[in-house]
Amino acid sequence: SPAPSLPDTIAAVATAPGRGGIGVIRVSGAALAPMAYALTGKPPEPRTAGFVRFLDVDDKVIDEGILLYFPAPRSFTGEDVLELQGHGGPVVMQMLLARCVELGARLAQPGEFSRRAFLNGKMDLAQAEAVADLIEASTVAAARSAVRSLSGAFSDEMHRLTDALIDLRMLVEATLDFPEEELEFLEKARAMERLEAIRAQLADVLDRARQGALLRTGMNVVLVGQPNVGKSSLLNCLAGEERAIVTDIAGTTRDAVRETIAIEGIPIHVIDTAGLRDTSDPVERIGVERTWREIARADVILRLVDAREGVQARDRTIDAALPAGVERITVHNKIDLCGVDPARSEENGAVSVFLSAQQGAGVDLLRRELLRIAGWHAHGEDVVLARERHLVALRAALGHVEAAREQGAALELFAEELRRAQESIGEVTGEFTADDLLGVIFSRFCIGK
Ligand code: GDP
Ligand code: ZN
Repeated sequence: SPAPSLPDTIAAVATAPGRGGIGVIRVSGAALAPMAYALTGKPPEPRTAGFVRFLDVDDKVIDEGILLYFPAPRSFTGEDVLELQGHGGPVVMQMLLARCVELGARLAQPGEFSRRAFLNGKMDLAQAEAVADLIEASTVAAARSAVRSLSGAFSDEMHRLTDALIDLRMLVEATLDFPEEELEFLEKARAMERLEAIRAQLADVLDRARQGALLRTGMNVVLVGQPNVGKSSLLNCLAGEERAIVTDIAGTTRDAVRETIAIEGIPIHVIDTAGLRDTSDPVERIGVERTWREIARADVILRLVDAREGVQARDRTIDAALPAGVERITVHNKIDLCGVDPARSEENGAVSVFLSAQQGAGVDLLRRELLRIAGWHAHGEDVVLARERHLVALRAALGHVEAAREQGAALELFAEELRRAQESIGEVTGEFTADDLLGVIFSRFCIGK
């Protein structure tokens, strides 16, 4: 059968690379029923899982599986979508993908499915980003938060704020048109009240978004200390029960210098400086350079010492080589061996924690200290898994609302600040986002998403 010409059809393997029980190819385009027919030899039934044989151009069977057909607009992208579920081997997947290309699809760019979903109004930008965040989530708390954004909780909040801003602006502009003083005075008084309500809500969202940004990116902690001082033991103890569910970010190989644990759902990337040796071995040297690059991004340095010995000259040597101005905590480990009680102390801003990594005593003090430095105050279910982009927009919106408050009597400027605040909020959901920015955002998604 001749390949139908569908220039704007995209296809990609949607499942992770490698081998698995099943693999999925996703196709999106204007009219995909003919392609489905060519692929299986029978007309597809909308939204029905049916056993099929995927056929090549000579009707030879490439694979057996399930074909799902979602006609527009009730699909992920809002276009016709096909999902080919075959056996999850890389060769089979490539053969199926090649067959789709033969039938008129082209290979999708990273994030292109999500971009189409956004452009077709299936979801806004914050929701599209939440899809990526859910897939990349490294802790359960981050995943929960991403799902809430995905289902529109964050977007709804943005829309409520936008509505409130629009209402207020209309009120102010109406006052501009009818400058009867009494009326103006009355209206303005209410305007300030409403403005304050908006400001408070915006500040609250921003705070929850900052917490969410922490959940997303976590905190970099560098662990320094002599051999045998208890670094690995401390890492294990800090990780506690959450360890099992924390994994490395997908796509990267397991990294010896950087291990991620979670404290209250916040990913804590711990960099062990054990590998910081002087070396002439080129491979090892790359590792050392990588370790230093990680150290340069540290949020906190944990300096581990033996509680029986305290800080020694050799600890200060490596300490001097670490970035200045980073939060430091000196951890006195193995208190069980010298009868010291768990404690936190602070002297000239230098924080020390006394604990036993082996017995667990005092480890909670350290956990609390790390959370304090991170700026974490649990918001539970309300945390918004924000990106830096969202924080920038929300901060800008808050700035405009505060500027409006300063304008007071200058109603035209007041209204203008409200308009700008509204624009900033619109950036979060994508209503006011430039095309090139969209390109950047979606290109960071992975293929098939
Ligand atoms: P690292 O080389 O710094 O990673 O040190 P390890 O975590 O491997 O610990 C070295 C040794 O010290 C091991 O035998 C641990 O069991 C022991 N150790 C670690 N922390 C404690 C502690 O708090 N109390 C006691 N008594 N032993 C500890
Ligand atoms: Zn170790």
